[in-house]
Amino acid sequence: AQAHIDALEKARVLNAYLVETPDRALKMADVSDAKIAKGEARPLEGLPLGIKDLFCTQGVHTTAGSKILEGFEPHYESNVSTQLWRDGAVMLGKLNLDEFAMGSSNETSAYGNVISPWRRNGSDAALVPGGSSGGSSAAVAAHLCLGATATDTGGSIRQPAAFTGTVGIKPTYGRCSRWGIVAYASSLDQAGPIARTTRDCAILLGSMAGHDPRDTTSVDLPVPDFEAAVARGVKGLTIGIPKEYRVDGMPAEIQKLWDQGAEWLRAAGATIKEISLPHTQYALPAYYIVAPAEASSNLARYDGVRYGLRVPGKDIAGMYENTRAAGFGPEVRRRIMIGTYVLSAGYYDAYYVRAQKIRTLIKRDFEQAYAAGVDAILTPATPSAAFGIGEKASADPVEMYLNDVFTVTVNMAGLPGISVPAGLDAQGLPLGLQLIGRPFDEETLFAASQVIE
Ligand code: GLN
Repeated sequence: AQAHIDALEKARVLNAYLVETPDRALKMADVSDAKIAKGEARPLEGLPLGIKDLFCTQGVHTTAGSKILEGFEPHYESNVSTQLWRDGAVMLGKLNLDEFAMGSSNETSAYGNVISPWRRNGSDAALVPGGSSGGSSAAVAAHLCLGATATDTGGSIRQPAAFTGTVGIKPTYGRCSRWGIVAYASSLDQAGPIARTTRDCAILLGSMAGHDPRDTTSVDLPVPDFEAAVARGVKGLTIGIPKEYRVDGMPAEIQKLWDQGAEWLRAAGATIKEISLPHTQYALPAYYIVAPAEASSNLARYDGVRYGLRVPGKDIAGMYENTRAAGFGPEVRRRIMIGTYVLSAGYYDAYYVRAQKIRTLIKRDFEQAYAAGVDAILTPATPSAAFGIGEKASADPVEMYLNDVFTVTVNMAGLPGISVPAGLDAQGLPLGLQLIGRPFDEETLFAASQVIE
């Protein structure tokens, strides 16, 4: 714990941590030392972790990357972090993120962007760590924690993992409790770990997962021994390669990496099969209707009364307006506008209902593939390697949204997906491959990820 505290003081330039909790870390580490001395070590005893600042932590400032939560100190702890502390992990602090987890580069954080520890060969230009869990990915990659919690609504665990050469898993919807996690789009949000290896991810997910009656969408299933699944191998498994993920303009090196990944799995005993997921092209536009719709509803609670920031006005409506105008950044406001529009009486059927129908079709595509004997699906994790800070934060937000083309389908269908580092591009930056699994079959993903890692 002390070594990590020292390291994060030296790495503040990365802006990965919004809040450091060294006193708490050392206190927890003392408990761990005592447990170890007594031979009573718990499964994560003494392991220093960072917590994405979307997870409520009791008595510790929780911002969701937004000014509107400035000063908010929850009097409760998220279920996921509670389970990590139960198992002996040590809390180093809270990690930066895109505001309310809306973004793919960490540039929408109200507290400044996170800088990736990676650089292109021969260049000093600062790169994004991905988003929205960019604090988590950067901190793990820079050895500022052993692992981190993250959340994924449309790719926010897998894309930052791919950009930083780390492993990240979005478990099946319902595997981890969302209780105590600031909501973005509740039907898509899932918590999961980012860590340096598949095995670390498996161990962390084993602690984070499990039924919680306080989240009615959390599923009452036993948590498998994920760590044991890592060494299982892929012999006899069928891995699908969906032809629709061969998108126009995909760099040749990503195609090459994808072929290479398939080859590694084949060499380890898997059968590789081309499959079709015909509704893939509709996933991104449908996601950018469903997610803002849910966000506009979830963010209605930030009214200056219940949490964080309050900016006075001449009456209560004026106070709401002033608080929300001062508290929300431009991307969050854009999402609220889109979401309110697609849910409005005149447009609900044309946009929201159609997007929900597309969501069902996407889910069916996967169900058919799995029914035909496919055990997991291999795709690239992202359409490119990490980009420079400011490079894509252009006037056209759609350019940023295109980053999520390979990841949003998984959230729309509620499936588990893992991103595993698979190689470097010509400029020396990490590239990730994604494996998509059957519902509640994270074990197969860990087994296949280990073969690629
Ligand atoms: N980039 C996507 C978005 O902005 C996904 C973010 C996430 O998974 N939280 O909505």
